[in-house]
Amino acid sequence: MARAILFDLDRTLVDLQNYTDYAAALDDLRALLDGWAEFTVLDADWDAPTLECMAILVALAGDPRWDAASAAVARHEFAAIPASHAMPGLAEAADLARTTPYAVVTLLPPDVARGALEHHGFPVDVIVGRDPAIRAKPHGDGLVVAAHRIGVPVGECVMIGDSSWDAAAAADAGAGFIGVPATPGAFGPEVEVAGGLVEAVRRILG
Ligand SMILES: [Mg+2]
Repeated sequence: MARAILFDLDRTLVDLQNYTDYAAALDDLRALLDGWAEFTVLDADWDAPTLECMAILVALAGDPRWDAASAAVARHEFAAIPASHAMPGLAEAADLARTTPYAVVTLLPPDVARGALEHHGFPVDVIVGRDPAIRAKPHGDGLVVAAHRIGVPVGECVMIGDSSWDAAAAADAGAGFIGVPATPGAFGPEVEVAGGLVEAVRRILG
């Protein structure tokens, strides 16, 4: 029986990604990193610049250039907040989730995530975001940290997310997972999916 929910943010609660100029962010990253290309791009149903930006930030964990790289991308993410859209059912999901502990685990910086969620009226205390000290999704570390902060064993948490990186992170952490795919190809047949955010929350709450 699940006791807590771990939400992904982008395209799960709020669509910031489609309003963020990750192509420009990638140009800034490439200029900053001057040809550095020691990263692996894991597939997800994101456009190529988004995927490459996230792969670079994951690969730079522990590198002294991480702060500048994250800030370069964050400028574009911040700029997208006013144009971003709430995902369908966000207000109802927030209302339902009030009865259980929950947190947000995101690849966005915590201040961008908090800004986006406040912009759309989604109340959240615990946000585990982009942090050089916490291995990012698809690693499960952020879920473990979030579960600890809300005081629930991670094995009693279920993540709701739109991407294969979320599903991989949940599996790595030992949490449950329900997918809310933004595109038909987001998940393989082995992943449990719901028709939307509200259905996913209802399923977890039983
Ligand atoms: Mg997402």
